[in-house]
Amino acid sequence: MSLIKVDEAREIILSRIQFMGAEKIPLTETLGRVLCEDIIARRNNPPMDNSAMDGYALIAEDVKTASPENPVILQVVGEVAAGYTATGEPLKSGQALRIMTGAPIPPGANAVIMQEDTERDGDRLLVKDMAEVDENIREAGEDVKVGELVVPKGTVIRPAHIGMMATVGRSQIFVGRRPTVAVLSTGDEILDLDDQPEGPCIYNSNGYMLSAQIRSAGGIPHYLGIARDTEEDLMEKFRWALQCDLIVSSGGVSVGDYDLVKASLKKIGQEMLFWKVAMKPGKPLAFGQIGDTPIFGLPGNPVSSFVSFEQFVRPSIRKMTGRDDLLSTCVQAKLTHSVSKKAGRQHFLSARTVWEKDGYIVTPEGAQGSGILKSAAQANSLMIFPLEATDLAEGEQVTVQLLE
Ligand code: AMP
Ligand code: MG
Repeated sequence: MSLIKVDEAREIILSRIQFMGAEKIPLTETLGRVLCEDIIARRNNPPMDNSAMDGYALIAEDVKTASPENPVILQVVGEVAAGYTATGEPLKSGQALRIMTGAPIPPGANAVIMQEDTERDGDRLLVKDMAEVDENIREAGEDVKVGELVVPKGTVIRPAHIGMMATVGRSQIFVGRRPTVAVLSTGDEILDLDDQPEGPCIYNSNGYMLSAQIRSAGGIPHYLGIARDTEEDLMEKFRWALQCDLIVSSGGVSVGDYDLVKASLKKIGQEMLFWKVAMKPGKPLAFGQIGDTPIFGLPGNPVSSFVSFEQFVRPSIRKMTGRDDLLSTCVQAKLTHSVSKKAGRQHFLSARTVWEKDGYIVTPEGAQGSGILKSAAQANSLMIFPLEATDLAEGEQVTVQLLE
């Protein structure tokens, strides 16, 4: 079997992954979800010209000459607080109106002087500074205008977006449905966390790590525990897993005598693709569909499982939830020391990427074996060492994929 490139494999996978459709949920539940409609302002914000300060609304021309040594005296003729409208005649020359932050500018006024630049004695106001026309006035619609697109479809909703949607009065929002994702670990040597370690066994790190990756990608993980290395057990657990929208397994996709995932999937399904992907870590990969359910058989080595998820499963879950940006954010970074490898596979190195002075710098973290999860745990990024490259020198610019 020849090797397939990472990008090619991803393209084939994504061409088979479908958006799951939208659901309407309360605004308060939308954090981290993918917006599935354009949010359009139905009113101006602010709805009217209003004061940016606690102070006095006045006519700028009246206080042109005002200074601390030479204050101008005005007569206070009323007040207006936020949430109210000034009553009475439009302001005339020589008059001022007490005004609070957020209150509508009264007719006749064209500036607000802040309280700190005044002194008040009954209805006499000493103004100790001049004011420009429009000073301290927030114009109607200066934030958003009626009809304006304020949050576009496809946005991953952050707190400011929630604020923006509340600003335009939206309480129910269409977001992408989150897929349920079955997580199945395989292997006779794999123990669950409550089991007593006995003999040559190891804990199920992949099951928990994949569940967390699924959650951070926008899916709802369903942890199905561990399948034994028999076709019967694998087939039973995979059949059970078909209740979910997507299935992710780890282990059992290589060429060992007990790597039975491929055979089991073939027996219960149609159309499974098996690849050797030109990547390291994470060469073997199974992908296919049973009915409408996409299935990923990821390799068992923890770092391989982790990196393969990032390359293939995260973009798929993103697509299912309605995101447009399917790939993780990549940046260019300066390599802190030279690295080398053989040509023919694209390597993903666990790395730390930090901003320093005028750009990112990247340092691969410790040992890079497919079983060295510690390096991945200390990393915040995956450094991409291109397929055909063999040597990268200190100081070279490389592409780094930032981890969630
Ligand atoms: P396999 O692909 O099943 O041959 O597994 C490759 C290596 O990954 C073996 O050393 C397994 O013990 C290990 N492995 C497989 N599944 C898990 C898991 N769920 N958690 C931790 N290590 C695993
Ligand atoms: Mg195994």
